Amino acid sequence: MTNCVFCGIVKGDIPSTKVYEDDHVVAFRDINPQAPVHVLIVPRTHIGGLDGLEGAADAALAACLRAAHIIAKQEGIAGSGYRLAANCGAHACQTVGHLHFHLLGGRQLTGEMG
Ligand code: AMP
Ligand code: ZN
Repeated sequence: MTNCVFCGIVKGDIPSTKVYEDDHVVAFRDINPQAPVHVLIVPRTHIGGLDGLEGAADAALAACLRAAHIIAKQEGIAGSGYRLAANCGAHACQTVGHLHFHLLGGRQLTGEMG
């Protein structure tokens, strides 16, 4: 999709620090990290968000979830624990309209998700 920053990152038109890629998924470091490990996992195909999953390929969605643990192991946080979060809509402060999962870890995260 034109004007989508994460589509630009997937295509390589916009720079990013990629940490993982497969047929369905690209993962890269968040530009404004909230934890020592803060990686965004995105499907290669443009899906607007959790509210745009109708018609989305199950393989792409499964790959996003599966990538989280692969990356956690790569980053050395699989044992200490990590959080996978996706914001949907205004109240959740979604700012980028391309489905993405935040992988957070490397410090004690608070119980409060907000
Ligand atoms: P959300 O608020 O859930 O939509 O998360 C969007 C995330 O994308 C934020 O944590 C931003 O810091 C991050 N972000 C925005 N632009 C970029 C970029 N060009 N490269 C890496 N992360 C980005
Ligand atoms: Zn996109």
